[in-house]
Amino acid sequence: DGTRTYLIGGNWKCNGTIASLEQLVSDFNAAGPIPANAEVVIGAPAIHIPLCLMTLRKDIAIAAQNCSLTGMGAYTGEVAASQLKDMGVTWVILGHSERREGFGMAGEDSELVAKKTKAALAEGLKVMLCIGEKKEEREAGTTMDVCASQLKPVAEILNKEDWANVSIAYEPVWAIGTGLTATPEMAQETHANIRQWMSDNVSPDVASAIRIQYGGSMNGGNAAGLMAQPDIDGGLIGGSSLKMDFFECIKGVP
Ligand code: PEP
Repeated sequence: DGTRTYLIGGNWKCNGTIASLEQLVSDFNAAGPIPANAEVVIGAPAIHIPLCLMTLRKDIAIAAQNCSLTGMGAYTGEVAASQLKDMGVTWVILGHSERREGFGMAGEDSELVAKKTKAALAEGLKVMLCIGEKKEEREAGTTMDVCASQLKPVAEILNKEDWANVSIAYEPVWAIGTGLTATPEMAQETHANIRQWMSDNVSPDVASAIRIQYGGSMNGGNAAGLMAQPDIDGGLIGGSSLKMDFFECIKGVP
């Protein structure tokens, strides 16, 4: 809306090899400037974070796609928020719908996501907090109930000041990776409801300052229309962030 800096996140998910990501990084590095009113972050696979930190242009920050609830210690296979911070990572994506779903393993519930958010913030990471309804929940008219139930445990555990380092990524699950994008009007309606919920349940100041990104099949063709809406402050972009189309999305920043 002109007062909030746009936040464009890429989510590479579990994609890429050294060769493919070196190519993508070199293409990104040769792409045009990033507008002054936009902040750009790439969520790289954990294993490729050092490669990105060393080679990606410095005006793109690096996010992890998850972090451990624990600190360092006897937690085989985990990556602690403090280790991400130590490596030079500045952001972490938490509560992505794919992690909530669990892809055949135990998924993450909203209480766990809230605890991880608190732990990541305590280590000095910024958080892209993903929320959003499934297709049947939208059809049942419960979109905002679902979003509120995902936000509530976070609002209960964070202090007001913590929210300065959080961006909410509203990602309707039915739009993720499906090519079905919410229309700008549909997305705007939910973004406005989320901002109202934040005003009522956290504070009006936090609600007006927080960025709410849209995610779900955003691409260079629809990004500008979505971000033209008053409560859409950027995007979280999966498929298109693995291509130069990511920079077309960035060009869509008003
Ligand atoms: C995502 O994974 O956060 C996402 C929005 O994916 P896609 O852009 O591919 O729908």
